[in-house]
Amino acid sequence: MGPDRQSEELQELTQQTRAIWDRNARFWDAAVGEGNLVQSTLIGPACERLLAVQPNMTILDVACGNGVFSRRLARLGAQVVACDFSETFLECARARNTRFKLLASDCLWYKSHFLLNEAGMLESQIECHALSRAVLTEQLHALGVEAGGVLLVHMSFRATRPIEGGPLGLIEALRGVLGATGTLVMPSWSGEDDEPFDPLTTPAAPSLGIVADLFWRLPGVLRSNHFHAFAAIGPEAAWITSDPLPLPPHIPESPVGRVHDLNGQVLLLGVGHDANTTLHLAEILAGVPYRLPTYCTVLQDGRPVRIDYEENDHCCERFAFADEWLRARGLQSEGRVGHAHARLARARDIVGVALKHLAGDPLLFLHPPSAGCVECDEARRSTGA
Ligand SMILES: [Zn+2]
Repeated sequence: MGPDRQSEELQELTQQTRAIWDRNARFWDAAVGEGNLVQSTLIGPACERLLAVQPNMTILDVACGNGVFSRRLARLGAQVVACDFSETFLECARARNTRFKLLASDCLWYKSHFLLNEAGMLESQIECHALSRAVLTEQLHALGVEAGGVLLVHMSFRATRPIEGGPLGLIEALRGVLGATGTLVMPSWSGEDDEPFDPLTTPAAPSLGIVADLFWRLPGVLRSNHFHAFAAIGPEAAWITSDPLPLPPHIPESPVGRVHDLNGQVLLLGVGHDANTTLHLAEILAGVPYRLPTYCTVLQDGRPVRIDYEENDHCCERFAFADEWLRARGLQSEGRVGHAHARLARARDIVGVALKHLAGDPLLFLHPPSAGCVECDEARRSTGA
């Protein structure tokens, strides 16, 4: 099928779909109105959480229907621009005294066309501006990042961008908020089991992202001299990065252990608790019984030597429990940093809530056997259970 034929079919499909929604819109509007049970208890709250709606945020609601969700967002203070390709739906939205701005249906058709064909173009229309250093600084202050404190950051730059100055701009904003007496810490391990680690040349693991790999290369940043490296800058950087190779990687005498000792904060920027290594420290302090064999390679007298060890590892998905534990106690601050959802909590609070729950069930972080998770099953087997 040639591109012209494809485009013709797509237009035809769009017209058909629009006609169907024009027919159904009033029925849908009467039935759902300001939200049925699914809308108001499941979809709405989950979307609001994901968006981390803040006053004066601008949100484009594509395919707004009768505007039920746009009105929720507007009530939370967002500036909402909404559009739908069904003119009848737009009439329903207007009839409900809509206070958000409605775009004409043709405009939506044009945009939905982009969405189908060139998703990146629609994305760039929504997130069209790079956030300035001033806005970023304000966001970090609002979240509760402490001047003069120790801050361990795990992040996805993809989720955070675009921001002024790119990855370096983000690092500078973080350092600016911490000030001269604060210490910034990021993971910096290589993840290459077979390669000896050299803190001066070994790249950070690709999974840690572009910011982590830029950070250790910056002037004044210290990096652990071992495979499970973290990098840090500031008054506590030397203490945090100076322990010898920790086995397993997140024992108390390791960078995350030192951040915990120093009552540091942990910032999860565009990532969840599954990226939160401080929870591995909690597992060790709780004495969880699972250990998986793994290895790394170090240089001894100039020769690569393999070191075998056991690590408390699994898929880490169930680290997400920490969200509920911390939220329930008011110990986690959440909001927007850059364009990403951010979580901030003290390392000691993260460890504290995890210890409390692991005391009741040391296998809590492992998926149950019925979930079919290969990694968690392997961890479970290592306990002899
Ligand atoms: Zn699992």
